[in-house]
Amino acid sequence: MRNHNFAEKWPQLGVIRGTVYNQETGLTGMIDALFPYVAATFAAFYAQFWRVLAYPVTSGQRVFWLYLLSSMVFAYWVYVRRSKASGNSPRSLRSFATFLFPKEVWSHSSAWLDVRYFFFHQVLGKLLYVIVIAIILNGTFQWVTGGPNLVKATQTVPSPTWVSFVVSFGYMIVVIAIVDFVAYILHYLQHKVPILWEFHKVHHSAEVMHPLSNYREHPIDNIAYAVGTGAAFGAMMGLANNYFGYLPSMPEILGVPLILFLFNIAGYNLRHSHVWLRWPGRLSMIFPSPAHHHVHHSRHPDHLDKNFAFVFPMWDVLFRTYHMPESDKDVEFGLYGQQGESEYSSCWRLYYIPFRNIAAKQRAAPKSKDDNAPSNPKA
Ligand SMILES: [Zn+2]
Repeated sequence: MRNHNFAEKWPQLGVIRGTVYNQETGLTGMIDALFPYVAATFAAFYAQFWRVLAYPVTSGQRVFWLYLLSSMVFAYWVYVRRSKASGNSPRSLRSFATFLFPKEVWSHSSAWLDVRYFFFHQVLGKLLYVIVIAIILNGTFQWVTGGPNLVKATQTVPSPTWVSFVVSFGYMIVVIAIVDFVAYILHYLQHKVPILWEFHKVHHSAEVMHPLSNYREHPIDNIAYAVGTGAAFGAMMGLANNYFGYLPSMPEILGVPLILFLFNIAGYNLRHSHVWLRWPGRLSMIFPSPAHHHVHHSRHPDHLDKNFAFVFPMWDVLFRTYHMPESDKDVEFGLYGQQGESEYSSCWRLYYIPFRNIAAKQRAAPKSKDDNAPSNPKA
């Protein structure tokens, strides 16, 4: 039998040497030594599972009950308008429920995959995401200030005055607008850079949408976004700290920055849903509407690579990627050119397909370059 002497094979792994595996205790000793780490990992996943179950009562989450309720109120308004326009259907709670949970959505496998993937990815992928964003935020903040870390800096807020209130309001608008601009650029790149598009495609592979479809995102897509927006946010906080001598706070409602609270309560959950809601006329250019994001998810050729913005549609208006039809008659969710049964059909496949596609493209690269085409075939 071969002698598995880990200590000699990988002397650089000091943790393994002696503590996890050693000649005297052998495999049993290794299992004993690893047990606390395995147990801690399980405990972290278990705690995360309960955190996910608590999303509907957590104000920082998009599916917080208040945001769901406000989306329902907006949906009711759309329902009333539609039934008035059609002139024949009598309104009732039952017919509103049918409007809210249509058969076309809930008889589709894509809808149920989003429910399963929500739990799968929020428990498995979210832990990684949270760690990455914390490191990036703190790292860029320290890099810009050259001083204390974020935890220490947030403890040195002066006593509030009307000046600090104005500062905090202005700080919120500037920081959220800049981070949103960086998010716009990142989202644009997620569509235009072939390797990033493979990961972002997972989000666009939903063929019907409901609020949990929002969470259909690949972990690499999450991390690419978190690194970019986290660095922008950390740097902005660092600059503000340098300028004011303390880190301003943002005005908040239920612990959520005011602008984001308003964004969430203005029908956020309809962005990923079948309920088409746009603000009248040019208001949709200023205020984010669910319809703005529906167009982004549509596979109609006129809608491809449009409406990348998250909070402020003005980025799309400024950079000519804004598109807002009067109605949703051409809006159909899914990937351009996707026909028949989707191959994005299970939780593991949503994780695995981007890697498979990238590997296949790498192999095929010398022969053909143009099947790397991003989402817009016209680009
Ligand atoms: Zn997108």
